[in-house]
Amino acid sequence: MASSERAPTKVIIVGCGVAGPVLACFLKSKGYTPVVYERIVRDSDGGLSLMLQANGLRVLALIPGLLDQLPGVVEDHMEFCSTVPGHEDQLGEYTYITSSDTAKLTMEDLNNIPGMGIRRYDFLHLLSETALQAGVEIHYERKVVDVHQHADSVEVKFEDGTTDTASFVVGCDGIHSNTRVSLFGREEASYTGLTQLGGFSPAPKSWKHKNSMFNYFGEESHMISYQVGPNLNSWAITRREAEHKETWRAVDDSMLQELKKDPVSEWSFGAGELLQTAHKMIKYGLYDRPELKTWYKGRVVLLGDAAHPTSPHLGQGANQALEDIYHLVRVLMKYNPSAEDPSTEVLKNAFEEYEGIRLPRTSALVKQARQVGDKMRVISGVDACLARDESVRATWANPEIGLRNLARARTGPFEGESEI
Ligand SMILES: Cc1cc2nc3c(=O)[nH]c(=O)nc-3n(C[C@H](O)[C@H](O)[C@H](O)COP(=O)(O)OP(=O)(O)OC[C@H]3O[C@@H](n4cnc5c(N)ncnc54)[C@H](O)[C@@H]3O)c2cc1C
Repeated sequence: MASSERAPTKVIIVGCGVAGPVLACFLKSKGYTPVVYERIVRDSDGGLSLMLQANGLRVLALIPGLLDQLPGVVEDHMEFCSTVPGHEDQLGEYTYITSSDTAKLTMEDLNNIPGMGIRRYDFLHLLSETALQAGVEIHYERKVVDVHQHADSVEVKFEDGTTDTASFVVGCDGIHSNTRVSLFGREEASYTGLTQLGGFSPAPKSWKHKNSMFNYFGEESHMISYQVGPNLNSWAITRREAEHKETWRAVDDSMLQELKKDPVSEWSFGAGELLQTAHKMIKYGLYDRPELKTWYKGRVVLLGDAAHPTSPHLGQGANQALEDIYHLVRVLMKYNPSAEDPSTEVLKNAFEEYEGIRLPRTSALVKQARQVGDKMRVISGVDACLARDESVRATWANPEIGLRNLARARTGPFEGESEI
């Protein structure tokens, strides 16, 4: 067959969460034939929300028209409050005036806004719809249980006993990745000692700024809140507690009423009101997983949470998955520009370069996220809490320092180039 008539290179993507459909859009546009397999039904309503930050938004901006359609809220304000009993105070605030119309956001805006709050359901729906419209095949309710490598292909096995085969496989199957288990064996997830209680609520009446990210620093607990829709706020309380399951299922109504009596319901600055008026809540434990030394084996490579699961305290999980995509597609283009069926050697070069760039960065961020949880958000003793509050006050007294701290996590992924 002449090279212009060759069969397109099929790539199996395991998982249609955040990373799967975005990666599929990029690969399709480069001449590959991505096929996505997802374990659950389409548009299932698990989880709450995400905070998209500059780095993630910059990758999404490379898919024509996508940024304009994001059904999220551009936050133009941040506020930091202490809720330590007897020491309640506003510790700082930051405002960046910009258009609420995502189509008008410049790169400078993206770097300066606190972020874009978005409901996970809305985001995932848009991403899968975008991939389908680009002609990507997505198969729901197809759980991958194993992968088998051959000399020049990979066979993926599903729970129902059926199989499919592709040139190479990208595991975008999140924190419970079976692709990761197939490559590197089963590992123990260890409880970090922290839980989160999250929910959706209307905006408290006392808030002057509605499009705002609030950080409430209490004794032994922390609450974050940001707007994700018209009069809809997503929040999460982090604290140290006995072990809790790693589930994303919403609690039932009687538990919801019980959780509204939580001590945080007494907090000021609108925090207590968020809890009291919540109409959906989820409670889950936060778990650590061992850091992998490598993310690929032969023709199979990991991406996103499957490669580098993280505590949520930097709000970078999805944003880092998007950075991964940028670099994986970039190196595939570098080593296999015509998107022809690659040899294992070509894939090795691409995967090695991808991992060389991404593994050290995500490793540092996973550690930093854990530290923010343990050393900033959930700390014991009034004196330690007041010292923490002073450091927040000092940081945001000069917003340039605060933004510089934030930029460490959210700068990227472009290194002198903005397209792939
Ligand atoms: C409490 C909390 C708050 C968070 N807040 C933020 C935030 O503010 N900002 C941020 O950027 N990130 C946040 N994250 C992290 C973010 O949700 C994840 O990092 C992000 O979704 C990772 O994308 P992914 O595509 O790798 O995995 P996921 O989005 O989890 O997608 C994995 C997909 O694979 C599917 N799947 C799993 N196993 C299989 C299988 N065997 N076969 C087929 N399909 C399979 C799953 O059903 C799922 O759809 C938060 C996480 C938590 C826990």
